[in-house]
Amino acid sequence: MDVQDQDKPSGPVTVGELEIIVDRDGCIGASACIPPADKTFALDDEGKAVILTTASQEEEADIVDAARACPVLAIKVMKNGEDLV
Ligand code: SF4
Repeated sequence: MDVQDQDKPSGPVTVGELEIIVDRDGCIGASACIPPADKTFALDDEGKAVILTTASQEEEADIVDAARACPVLAIKVMKNGEDLV
């Protein structure tokens, strides 16, 4: 599994025009974010969602859908400084 930023595996990272961050304390490892955007999100060995190098190949709408699918809203997505999720 190749995370985009080894120092900040759960972000914040920039993907295209989006900034993505996963709240690692809030993430419960439910995996709901993975099916909508499996190029972007995966679980690490602590069961926390991380952001992959392949995120740039994902459709923006799918990343937003994935963030909305999180049952505890642990994923935040921003575009041009505006919160999308
Ligand atoms: S859906 Fe939310 S709680 Fe589940 S792995 Fe993704 S970020 Fe974590």
